[in-house]
Amino acid sequence: MCLGACRYGEHQHISPVAVVAADTLFIQPFYPASAQWTAHDAAELRAFYHVPVVVLPSIRIYDTACAASGRYSADILLHCLSSIQRARGHKILGLTTYDIFTRKNNIAEWGIFGLGRCPGDQCIVSDFRLRKFKGKTQEFVTNVVLHEIGHNYGLPHCSHDNRCLMNDAKGTIATLYREQKWLCPHCLQKLVAMLRIPGDMQLALYEK
Ligand SMILES: [Zn+2]
Ligand SMILES: [Zn+2]
Repeated sequence: MCLGACRYGEHQHISPVAVVAADTLFIQPFYPASAQWTAHDAAELRAFYHVPVVVLPSIRIYDTACAASGRYSADILLHCLSSIQRARGHKILGLTTYDIFTRKNNIAEWGIFGLGRCPGDQCIVSDFRLRKFKGKTQEFVTNVVLHEIGHNYGLPHCSHDNRCLMNDAKGTIATLYREQKWLCPHCLQKLVAMLRIPGDMQLALYEK
């Protein structure tokens, strides 16, 4: 899923090295997200986007985001994550085991895997709907994490190649079976322009 927002574009006159250093990603795990899960996705994010990743100590999920159904509003969680203090421009990814939803058309609680501002500084991913796919859960969750951070970097949904990470999952699992840990040339070009990463890193990203 992606949310419209407009916070990007503040780094236009900074060198590539400075942009990479400024774009540290923070991971905020909510109990009881495991340390193993968090560490795995921290490593995946470092390898895929070539940015520093810092894991914050786990905290209790925000009660204000809990609906009467017992599920959690992803939109409210994004708002809460925005209040966690960090340097300007740093992005933060929340990881939760609770079921999360957003509003979709006239459906008040549309269950989702993740939600990220596009572009923006906050995203949230839940493994709740992915845990039943034994043997694939970790791979699927990682792809959703990379997808939501892609939104934060300003990548919209992709319709150029159905193997691209930035395809819209539309809440269904079929997309996740098709997707690879890979950005199509179209999305990659956009990302490189956004991150201004040096040429040798572009190649490394392309080969994913
Ligand atoms: Zn999306
Ligand atoms: Zn793409």
